[in-house]
Amino acid sequence: MNDLTGSGRVLISPAMAIRPLVTLPDPRLRLKSEPVDKITDEVRNLAADMLETMYDAPGVGLAAIQIGVPKRVVVMDTAKKDEERRPVVLVNPEITWASEETSTYEEGCLSIPEYYEEVERPARVRFRYTDLDGEAVEIEAEGIVATCVQHELDHLDGVLFIDHLSKLKRARVVKKFAKAAKREKVEAES
Ligand SMILES: [Zn+2]
Repeated sequence: MNDLTGSGRVLISPAMAIRPLVTLPDPRLRLKSEPVDKITDEVRNLAADMLETMYDAPGVGLAAIQIGVPKRVVVMDTAKKDEERRPVVLVNPEITWASEETSTYEEGCLSIPEYYEEVERPARVRFRYTDLDGEAVEIEAEGIVATCVQHELDHLDGVLFIDHLSKLKRARVVKKFAKAAKREKVEAES
């Protein structure tokens, strides 16, 4: 099994910034993100900002579209609170295999704040990606990492975890966020 930590180069970027999160019902969350052609400083800076934004939130994963950038870049850190940080950057990630066996975790999403619901997904997945050194990596994961990878990769195709819930549950949360957005708009205009 490959070490998820990678080179850690992303951590020494000089100008990391916390970026505003894109939240429901922003239509950008439904965009299909574009592949990254080449690992450039722009991609490394994007990843650094994504990690900064994710740690600040705090969250265990973030896709670039969640800060409004439609590129196939994901950051994750599933280390527990009392453990050392284990940042991972996945460029152009793809799931190559998923187990028939499933597991259920309570998921949340930085783009759907303060909403948590149990989601059933394949318990184990194999996935490949390019790291920030431009190296191809293939990994098999289970547990929270497998769930997180599937959740974040969904974002790259405009899929949200609420799409895995019943129609009724999804409609309820979409309505709640649409209402809140409307209220905010009215308040901003008045
Ligand atoms: Zn999410």
